Amino acid sequence: MIPRFKILFLIVGLIFGVHCRSARVGQAETLMGTLVEITAEGRDHKLVEARVALAFEEVRRVDRLISTFREDSELSRINRAAGVAPVQVSPEVLEAIERSLEVSRLSDGAFDISYAALGGLWDFSGEKPARVPEAAEIAARLKRVGWRRIQVDRSAGTVFLPEAGMRLDLGAIAKGYAVDRALAALKVPGVDRALVTAGGDLRAFTRPGEKPWRIGIQDPARRDRLLGELEIQNQAVATSGQYERFVEIQGRRYGHILDPRTGRPAEGVLGATVIASEAWEADAWATALLVLGPEQGIKLLPSPPGIEALIVDAKGRWHATPGLAGRIQPAPSPSVPFLFRL
Ligand code: ADP
Ligand code: MG
Repeated sequence: MIPRFKILFLIVGLIFGVHCRSARVGQAETLMGTLVEITAEGRDHKLVEARVALAFEEVRRVDRLISTFREDSELSRINRAAGVAPVQVSPEVLEAIERSLEVSRLSDGAFDISYAALGGLWDFSGEKPARVPEAAEIAARLKRVGWRRIQVDRSAGTVFLPEAGMRLDLGAIAKGYAVDRALAALKVPGVDRALVTAGGDLRAFTRPGEKPWRIGIQDPARRDRLLGELEIQNQAVATSGQYERFVEIQGRRYGHILDPRTGRPAEGVLGATVIASEAWEADAWATALLVLGPEQGIKLLPSPPGIEALIVDAKGRWHATPGLAGRIQPAPSPSVPFLFRL
């Protein structure tokens, strides 16, 4: 007969074992103007907790580097030196700008971080009374928009905007980039699963044999409803929507994603979701698709491996790449663990 204390020990061991296997740390904090949520699982609670803390620190670090809301960020220094001199930047900022330029090239200029020369013409802050700018004002600013004019000198490690009034803004990839950096801090021995979300951007990590993450996509037409659910393991998902930030002028909505070719808010797409292996890339393309629209957008989207998109047009119709259509499960369950907005 097995002594009673041994049975007790066995039970405690089992409970402890199960508990240890699935130690989960979940934390949320408002950073980069949005809610950043980080969840990670692993055997050693202390290790997981330390890694989650490090992941949050990465988000703060990326924000300090590239936020144009901060006077002291490297990006703000580039902007202040427009028309004056090249600015030395860190390899990460250089890389983020080079990646943005690559998406500009592939998207035919729909994605353009120099769109920011239009900044202030359209005011989405709600601080000033909103108005539609005059055509002449837009035309004058558009002269300073153009990704081809951004001068990156890789060997010197500098970025130069050749004309005063030119401006860069990495708002369309900053959160995605931060999510990537945070995930890198979690992808270490001892962490079995991790999910980082920042507003509409997320990236998952799942060790082989572990459960995938199940996420919900919010319907851009009806925000109280889910469009569907999706299972992901080691991928990133980003969403953009004109309804997230917009101004209403005389009953008409103007969204915060601008078409760099016209200087006016992009129209025709309610929301776009992109899956890619890295969050910065998904983030950049989600923004580009809002400008490009469904047909052009799906045509220009880099071909697989891995990049998929779902676009909901202004009439509420879906346009999805073939690889994604089959992955979306239409019946949303009442309790999806993670929601992100489309
Ligand atoms: P959000 O930041 O609201 O989640 P996005 O990732 O789509 O959504 O980024 C939108 C931001 O991208 C805008 O607030 C602006 O800073 C920037 N942006 C707007 N239009 C463009 C564009 N055509 N190309 C690149 N960036 C843009
Ligand atoms: Mg984006």
